[in-house]
Amino acid sequence: MNQFKPIFLGQADPRSEQAKLKRAANSQKCIRAGGKHNDLDDVGKDTYHHTFFEMLGNWSFGNYFKREAITWAWELLTEVYKLDTARIYASYFGGAPDKGLEPDNEAKAIWCEFLPADRVLPFGMKENFWEMGDTGPCGPCSEIHFDKIEGRTGSQHLVNADDPTLIEIWNLVFIQYNREADKSLRQLPAKHVDTGMGLERLTSIIQKVGTNYDTDVFMPIFAEIQRVTKFSQPYGGKVGKDDPNQVDMAYRVIADHIRTLTFSLADGAVPSSDGRGSVLRRILRRAIRYGKQKLNAPSGFFHCLVDVVLQNFGDFFPELRKRPQHIISVIETEEKMFERTLDKGIIEFENIAKKSTNGVISANHAWYLSSSFGFPIDLTTLMAEEKGMKVDIQGYEALSEKLAEENRKRQKEKKNELTLNAEPISILQKMDVHPTKDQYKYEQKEVQTVVKAIWTGSEFINSLVNANKKMVGVVLESTNFYPEQGGQIFDIGNINFTDTQNTAFQVTDCKVFGGYVLHIGYISDDCAELKVGDRVETTVDYTRRIPIMSNHTSTHMVNFALRKVVGENVDQRGSLVDQTRLRFDFSIDKSLNKDQLVQVDAIVNELIAKQLPVHSKEVELDMAKKIYGLRAVFGEVYPNPVRVVSVGVDVNDLITNPSNPDWANYSIEFCGGTHLTNSKEAEFFTIVSEEAVAAGVRRIFAVTGSDASVVFDNNRKLEDLFNEAKKLTGKDLKDSVPKLLALLESHQLSASKRIELQATLNEVQNEVKKWFKVQEQQQLTDAKKVVTTIIEQLKESKAPVFAGEISLGLNNSAITDLIKEIQTACPDTAVLFVSPDEEKKKVCVLSIVPPKSTAATKGLTANSWVVKVSEVLGGKGGGKVDVAQGVGSSIEKVDEAIQLAKSFGEKLLL
Ligand code: ATP
Ligand code: MG
Repeated sequence: MNQFKPIFLGQADPRSEQAKLKRAANSQKCIRAGGKHNDLDDVGKDTYHHTFFEMLGNWSFGNYFKREAITWAWELLTEVYKLDTARIYASYFGGAPDKGLEPDNEAKAIWCEFLPADRVLPFGMKENFWEMGDTGPCGPCSEIHFDKIEGRTGSQHLVNADDPTLIEIWNLVFIQYNREADKSLRQLPAKHVDTGMGLERLTSIIQKVGTNYDTDVFMPIFAEIQRVTKFSQPYGGKVGKDDPNQVDMAYRVIADHIRTLTFSLADGAVPSSDGRGSVLRRILRRAIRYGKQKLNAPSGFFHCLVDVVLQNFGDFFPELRKRPQHIISVIETEEKMFERTLDKGIIEFENIAKKSTNGVISANHAWYLSSSFGFPIDLTTLMAEEKGMKVDIQGYEALSEKLAEENRKRQKEKKNELTLNAEPISILQKMDVHPTKDQYKYEQKEVQTVVKAIWTGSEFINSLVNANKKMVGVVLESTNFYPEQGGQIFDIGNINFTDTQNTAFQVTDCKVFGGYVLHIGYISDDCAELKVGDRVETTVDYTRRIPIMSNHTSTHMVNFALRKVVGENVDQRGSLVDQTRLRFDFSIDKSLNKDQLVQVDAIVNELIAKQLPVHSKEVELDMAKKIYGLRAVFGEVYPNPVRVVSVGVDVNDLITNPSNPDWANYSIEFCGGTHLTNSKEAEFFTIVSEEAVAAGVRRIFAVTGSDASVVFDNNRKLEDLFNEAKKLTGKDLKDSVPKLLALLESHQLSASKRIELQATLNEVQNEVKKWFKVQEQQQLTDAKKVVTTIIEQLKESKAPVFAGEISLGLNNSAITDLIKEIQTACPDTAVLFVSPDEEKKKVCVLSIVPPKSTAATKGLTANSWVVKVSEVLGGKGGGKVDVAQGVGSSIEKVDEAIQLAKSFGEKLLL
């Protein structure tokens, strides 16, 4: 109902199409998986709540009310859909005396015209008083419930009792109040109707099947799930205890969730770590977990289901078919990211569950599952429930808050960073600790290893105890953590004890000194002591690492693309890659123009679309340097052997024939960073800004994956809005300028699109300037006409004072000219004009009292006159006895001001 809220509140722009609406009927795409309406926990467990569903509604905006709404609902259900009247129950608002709310006897009486009184049931605030949020339009409602068991009577007790055989199908809301911020109810200026009927529930009744899931909305999806997962049994419709292995529940969850994901991605949403995107990510992971654990689905099964949703619903929702590949690839990437940690996470969860003695998963463990394996808290809760266990959710939330706070503190603390300089390094060597074996950073899997040293910043210690909450550095024999280097940010994650799997240490930073990888962080709350010699396992946060890899590989691709677009003399001057974006500095004299930005984006996206494998290999430095077209950073000292990373061509081919000029067509760099295995995993790429950093050096920022997809959506959205604005004229066009500016400011866009939209905005502003000129000209012509009439009247009346309104805004010089024109014709008249400026909400006052005029001789001075009049207008004025001016802001008092000006002038003359 969001789109209609302004109408209900009486705030719709009276010139808008919307304000003219009296009635409407529509179908709305609804997602209830977060916020006030959150049905996620019920989805799959019951058979009539979905995360995504279609809601059919009819609306009255101050037009028809209860009688029509109820009568028509009855007519549609019983005469058009021919539902069995004996199975229909209605509810109405039974009042809330403690809140001073009367029962809705009007609705009750109307229902009793259709139904026997014992099937018209009163309910309280919770069921039958509809509120959209903490504030906003609200009112009593009346629901229609349907008994799904044919021939059954006397089911009153099952209404609103969470019984799948008697379900609510339609809610008629009578909006008559607004809930104010202070919680009071205010009567709305007009009364409205908002009804909502769930399409899936209605379908199950019309198709005479048991539940929503047995309809043709879901059955084709189930068939596809079985085909894709190769699960032995088809969907069997079992619920709760009858479905002990949760096979049917998994079918329901997956079918429901793929609809939600497909529809919302088609509408421009993207899974992410916060906001609405995080709701999508939670839903997606919930589906994947069910598929893999309950249906033994193969990896990557989930995105294969997009197609059946498109086939089933694409005819009715054409937007689904606009970018199917986008939907599929976003889900595929998300799926990959989660699958890397899912299996391990499930094993961890089992261990944790087994060890729990009180049937509760502790907050620390829930946090561990979420931070190391990407298990959203509701997934952990669900998995716990399956075992009849609980999760300490309150504790988890408190812990999240505490850790966020600690993180903020640590950010500050980070200024005194831990380092290993020459002295501690020589001590390590003396202790016979070897440089860390870190080749595992490329392999993306945990490493079993041993603690070799613990560094406090001033000394090496043998044992770190829990009381010590200070930041320390841990050296291991080997690791898969990537230490910050070569412009790629460090990894974060955990060090766990190999035997218990308990977290020993949280790694919040990672650096390398003289070949020793220092895992910097804090002893875990769960851990009493960490000692040199302890056997541990390293788990990197791969949900964070994957976007880093995507940004790193894309940095290579953009380096390649820039050379293609701008020329061979572009040289890399630095880069920085983290999980949110990439930064690339390069030498060039001029800024990149729009076309160049477009081309660079296009080349990188083409490399992504070509699905090129990313190769890497260590090569003898001398040999590597011979590779044609290789990009090395000027002045950088490279190790020998050096690691060569190339996109689309095997490094072995490069060294077999290093001088092949063909290699100029590939991105080939020396790089020790971690990369994607295939360019397609970057999904999308776009440059979001381009700026100067130093003379001859420019800097671009770019994003990839879902972040880039969000930017593309913004590009499209703003382009549409700007094109719409261009069609406007006159005042509407002028009013659009601040809105367009705000849009540009509040959206991340492709740099090329920003240039384009800025140009559009300039055009709009020029048009507005022209319009202003025309307006001014018109105003002046009109004002001159007014002055001609005034002169005629004055010649007749010979009045010594004149005060009146003129519409020239704050254009003082034009007003002065016109006063002079009057006084040339009538030299004895003292004149005062009041001129309002509707736009600026200001009024100016101007007066000339000719020194030898009758008024002047009788004591009228221009300044006293103007001061008096300006006061009425809530402003000030001043000047000399013959010429004065003022401004005020009470634009609504223009008439009053003129009245006063007249009487003030005339009184003096008496
Ligand atoms: P319930 O009590 O069954 O959750 P509700 O009171 O939350 O329903 P309303 O907010 O009144 O439902 O929504 C209007 C109609 O939309 C309902 O009568 C029902 O047909 C449908 N509906 C509501 N929530 C869902 C959902 N999660 N899945 C499918 N249909 C729904
Ligand atoms: Mg509900």
